[in-house]
Amino acid sequence: MIYFDNASTTKIFKDVAEFMCVYSQENFYNPSGIYSKSIKVFSDLENAKNKLREYLGADDFQVVFTASATEANNIALSSFAQKNKKILIGGGEHSSIYETAQHLKQQGFDVDFVHLTTEGKVDVDDLTNKLNDSVGFVSIMHVNNETGAVNDIANIAKIIKNKTKNAIFHCDGVQAFCKINTNLKHLGVDAYTVSSHKVHGPRGVGALVFRKELPIKTFIFGGGQEQNIRSGTENVAGIMAFLMAVEKMQKNLKSNFEHAKILKARLLQNLGDINFVLNGNQENDSPYIVSLSFKTKGEVLLHMLEEEEIFVSTGSSCNSKHKGNRVLTEMGKDKTSTDGNIRVSFCENNTEEEVDIFCKVLKEKLDKIKGLNIWKK
Ligand code: PLP
Repeated sequence: MIYFDNASTTKIFKDVAEFMCVYSQENFYNPSGIYSKSIKVFSDLENAKNKLREYLGADDFQVVFTASATEANNIALSSFAQKNKKILIGGGEHSSIYETAQHLKQQGFDVDFVHLTTEGKVDVDDLTNKLNDSVGFVSIMHVNNETGAVNDIANIAKIIKNKTKNAIFHCDGVQAFCKINTNLKHLGVDAYTVSSHKVHGPRGVGALVFRKELPIKTFIFGGGQEQNIRSGTENVAGIMAFLMAVEKMQKNLKSNFEHAKILKARLLQNLGDINFVLNGNQENDSPYIVSLSFKTKGEVLLHMLEEEEIFVSTGSSCNSKHKGNRVLTEMGKDKTSTDGNIRVSFCENNTEEEVDIFCKVLKEKLDKIKGLNIWKK
């Protein structure tokens, strides 16, 4: 089996899964309890927050653990977006930002979207033109989950701070965290979102990390857990396991990155003699995500590859129920490219041999369908 869909989710590390199992058996106590066993679990939770702050270079930030990055993004928008101020959203955001912004728009919020360049980055000129003192909130992702395009967040933060008085800048860092530098001080963001299952941690854990002075709102009402922002008994075993996965990933961040670069270069070199479009930029994008388009339907290719136990996706998994591809369309790609898109996404466990097999199989499949009515001329 070759698994090239790591931007969608990663396999949990075996020792992390084992640790989570043991922790939930031995430390099942409710962190809100007032006896010593509970107090120990509560202090584990606090330590996990401190560790996350440390990994993000965010010592003066507040951490709220959530059940997903989707939830963290929803909390960010519903807390920081104000009705009397303009909201600017990157044109290629994940649906957890995009759909929430659309919802706010329907509720009467003033929402505008920043265009993408043909390479899939936020168009900094368009952003600059749209920024003024009426803007109260900006959300722009760090690494695009469909194309791997990397936005220069440090530069964007500077522009936002120069052009607006008090706009809050949130960044969705799900595809960046543990893969590239995500030091929040260096990036200059006010709030940042991360997800556990993209970095070999368990499903069902995310976090919103934000400057302490920001006006956060209660998102889920109840017993007041997580600083009264999202009530519900905390998933401490999952959170502890997430931090264990993060620790492992951070240790190898540089070597993993170099490995992903080798895989991506090999993939593009192997495919060099066939007709495909690379959606993005080979040099500057994240090496973990490669978006390719062929002259057939991406879905057809996906299933042909699946027959050989090779797993990729068509764009983002979260969008698989929607028709078309919003991000590629925003980049100005034609219908052939948007229909014929597959996303290959690596993790550090993938090998060069797997890349070679993938390319060989893909070429055979493409040869098979050339000339059929599913092949576009
Ligand atoms: N943001 C980005 C950029 C993503 O890629 C994803 C998942 O694909 C999410 C947010 C949502 O993450 P989660 O599955 O933890 O809700």
